[in-house]
Parts: sequence; structure tokens; C-alpha cells
Amino acid sequence: MTRRHAARDPARSGASVLTGARALIFDFDGTLALAPYDFQAMRREVMRVAARCGVDSVGLRGLRVLEMIERAGAALGPASRDFRADATAAVRQKEIEAASKGRLLPGAMAALRKLRAAGYGIAVITRNCEEAVRIILKGRELPCQVLLARDHVRKVKPDPHHLRRAMSRLKVTASDCLMVGDHVIDIEAGKAAGMRTVGVLTGSTGRRQMQEAGAHLVVRDVRELAAMLLQRTQEPCGRIKSHRQNVILNPPAGG
Ligand SMILES: [Mg+2]
Repeated sequence: MTRRHAARDPARSGASVLTGARALIFDFDGTLALAPYDFQAMRREVMRVAARCGVDSVGLRGLRVLEMIERAGAALGPASRDFRADATAAVRQKEIEAASKGRLLPGAMAALRKLRAAGYGIAVITRNCEEAVRIILKGRELPCQVLLARDHVRKVKPDPHHLRRAMSRLKVTASDCLMVGDHVIDIEAGKAAGMRTVGVLTGSTGRRQMQEAGAHLVVRDVRELAAMLLQRTQEPCGRIKSHRQNVILNPPAGG
């Protein structure tokens, strides 16, 4: 590929995308872990609860699960409390069933550990519930300073609020960060928050879809990304230094 061609193809121009990054925000499912979530079954559950509450299902078609709950809840107005509680409980049950069959991706924990040791700030964000994440982790702690499941935020990705909460906890700005994920949602969310974005191919999204979504870089998995970043960490540039989860951080050198 010529240099000119690479410049026109941001998902292939690779290493320069990583320059100056000192914090990483990772998606969880499909990026660090895999579990057999049945999103169709979750949608059917939300439809069932919505129908019981008198919500017309037509307006819910084609939406993602959490957005279905939001849309139906908005339609019900002040009477939405029971609907939201029941629909969320039904979805959570499906998530937890799948999580019990879930596992971390090979090398994911080791990659995060190496990145932490090299001084990168690390957050993990997910539209999943925290309980499902904890089940997949089987008692292990993610080597990150911040974990923000949907239980912890007002709005989940692709709303940039989710990423901004992570940035705030890491005490970094969007220009410091890479958003890393396996789904177009992650790329959309990262771009909406003003970040560089990295697509990984360990979920159900292909390279071409990632490129079409505008990913700045596409790699095979987090191990490959970690290897690329660790190659670049020889020069000190104010990486984030704390190893304590949820407690942060030293300011950049000179900052
Ligand atoms: Mg994902």
C-alpha cells in the first residue's frame, strides 16, 4: 500500500493512530470475553412484558434490547416503573444464564495486565449488567481502574455519556483515549466522544463493517493491539501509573 493510499484508509494506516494514547476504554463482551447471549430471546421477553402493559409492539421492532425498554418506557410515561422493572429483570435473567456459559478470551487478561504495567489507564465499559460480567470473571478482577456496566451509568453506549464517565474516572481527555470494541456501537460511541477507535475482530463484526463504521484501526484481537502499543511504550510520555482498581492516578509528566 502506498503512503497516500494508507492516508485515505484510516483503518489501515495503523500505528500512527496509537500515537500519544495513554488510556484505553475497552468494551467487554466480544472484546475481552465471549458468552452465548440470545438477543432474539431477550427481545421476545421485552415484547411480552410490553404487550402485557399495553404497549404496541410495532414501534419496538428493529430496536436493540435496551432501546426497546427505553422506547416502551417512554410510551408508558409515569406508569412505566413496573414495566421497566419487569423487562429489565427478564433481560437480566437471560444475560446471567448466558454468562454462566461465558469465558474470557485467550490472552485478554494478560494483555490488560501488561498494558496496566506499562502505565496505560484502562477502563472497561459494557451495556451488560455488572452481575453477568462478574459471573464471567469467576472471581477474578479485571486489571483496570474503572468498570462501568449499565448499572453504573445514566445512558449506555453508543451514547457518549458512557465513555465520558469512564474518561472522568480515568482523569483523561478524549485525545488521550482509544475506544476498543468488537461492535459498530463501540466505534460510533468512540467517535461521538471524540476518540480514536480500534475495532477488534473477536465478535461478530467483520473488518469491512468496522472500516465502513469509521474505525481508525482494525486489529485481530486485544493481544495484537497490546503488542502494538507495548512496542511504542519505550519512550516515557506521562503514562498513568496507579495499579489500584478504581483509584486514580498520577498526572502526566509536566502536566
Ligand atoms: Mg461487544
